[in-house]
Amino acid sequence: MKRAFCVFASALNDQSLKLANNMKLISDFKEWKFRSPPSYAKLPIDENPEYNVPVAVKNAVFSKVPVEPLTGALHLVCVSGDALQDLFDLDPKVADSEEFIHFVAGRYLPEGGLTVSHRYGGYQFGYWADQLGDGRAHILGEYVNSKGEIWQPQLKGSGETPYSRFGDGRAVLRSSIREMVASEACHYLGIPTTRAAALVVSDDHKVWRDKTYSGNAKQERAAIVMRVANCWYRLGSLEILLKRAEPSTMRTLVDFIIEHHFPEVHSSSDDKYVKWYTEVAHRNLDMVATWQGFGFTHGVLNTDNVSILGVTIDYGPYGFIDHYYHHYVPNSSDDMGRYAYNRQPDILVWNLEKFAEALELILSEEQKEQIKAVRSTLGEYVKKKVLSTYLLKLGLKQTQDGDEDFVQELLQTMQDTTADFTCTFRQMAEVDPKELLDKSVLEKKWSLDKLLAAGAKWEAWVKKYQDRLTVEGVSEDERRARMLAVNPAYVARNWIMQEAIADAEKNDFEKVRFLMKVLRKPFEVDEEAEKRGYSSQPPSWSYGLKLSCSS
Ligand code: AMP
Ligand code: MG
Repeated sequence: MKRAFCVFASALNDQSLKLANNMKLISDFKEWKFRSPPSYAKLPIDENPEYNVPVAVKNAVFSKVPVEPLTGALHLVCVSGDALQDLFDLDPKVADSEEFIHFVAGRYLPEGGLTVSHRYGGYQFGYWADQLGDGRAHILGEYVNSKGEIWQPQLKGSGETPYSRFGDGRAVLRSSIREMVASEACHYLGIPTTRAAALVVSDDHKVWRDKTYSGNAKQERAAIVMRVANCWYRLGSLEILLKRAEPSTMRTLVDFIIEHHFPEVHSSSDDKYVKWYTEVAHRNLDMVATWQGFGFTHGVLNTDNVSILGVTIDYGPYGFIDHYYHHYVPNSSDDMGRYAYNRQPDILVWNLEKFAEALELILSEEQKEQIKAVRSTLGEYVKKKVLSTYLLKLGLKQTQDGDEDFVQELLQTMQDTTADFTCTFRQMAEVDPKELLDKSVLEKKWSLDKLLAAGAKWEAWVKKYQDRLTVEGVSEDERRARMLAVNPAYVARNWIMQEAIADAEKNDFEKVRFLMKVLRKPFEVDEEAEKRGYSSQPPSWSYGLKLSCSS
């Protein structure tokens, strides 16, 4: 029935589709059911009953693992009404029901649910780390929405699994807030990403964490974030199957992923593995280009933290750059800066090399050669994508010789003058390029004002920019409109998150919820956000802020 509706709906325009969908919204959460069985039930699932004892799992893609619910009194910290409505066909009001909060806390599983944890490995900081897997996450089931899309909600922080290694299977409030807010914020920016539907915290369920790795562990409250994706496979999902020499499981998994999640590749011919590799690679490189455009730095780009779908996954010690610094490293554990902002495109290419190595286990000699040829193009592919992302931020559409230097000169000047990444581009959209050297105008634009300190260097760049606009024939109205649409006023800056987290620790969730609201429309100026300084110069205490991996 749902599929039939999907065909019908695809013929409607956006507005009537919304109306049709609205009519279908489910307002009684008890009526919301998973598809039964979920498609992933066809894959090999390990049924070891000792689910909470760490073990090296063999010949399986998942382990069947019951959720260990959060205990104690619960608070619903925040909800993404859009995720509920657009992904799950749910009336956001369901979030007021007891069943819903119990659902997020792992206490209530809708009909058709099948709770599993995924087996994967990964290269961490360049070295093979062996089996990792969902050590504290459970996929709950599979929902096929009224648009025919498959969505799998996953709890993070929902108890031990065979993949827990030394961990307790839990997550704390601060990291869960960071994941919740950033997932939705990135979605609204236009970054491909996993989504987040809701977040609960328990007053009574406590865990020990050593946040600064100083030997001083403290008790913190346990929380669960409900994340949502079409599926949860990572590059490391294949890598573990290479390392354990399981070609048959790999073939089953790859064929399954292609059939269920890459229909455009599935329908094509025998060289589907080559097409699939190319698609996975391009999606991930397109994704990293969007990151570069927003100054988003993931922080832990291990191969287990890279989705096969090319969506941002596993938000940990990430950061959006404040004052521009090309080697920005938000993760306090990344001493060598392996995952610095400017290294991200190359790291993705490195990760995709490892992914190709894994896939070779099931490839013919001819396919290996074809994929080798694809691999040799990836560096150039991402370089071009990143460059055109920057040009678009500057309101330019055409590329020409010397563009790379042109962009680099601006970034270098921003770095030299500690100009802000987000606000420089945003303010550049707001000021007529003819006035980019006018002190009286720039005084009112704090980030641009900093650039004036670069003197002749800034003047030379502005001159080039003005010439570029003339050559392209971009009118001022067009330039402004283009730039305002791609340069946000607000991003999930770490200092703003830290303030929201501090309040949330005291059960005051106003700032978290306000952030969710503002970041839903990051390209629109919000009066209250302005008052709170969200597009002002970040406070001095936040300068050089780094985030811990402890979560
Ligand atoms: P992450 O840094 O969150 O991507 O996690 C890296 C690996 O450690 C994954 O396999 C996680 O499932 C696992 N892990 C992280 N924290 C915990 C925890 N508290 N309990 C169990 N496993 C964890
Ligand atoms: Mg991870």
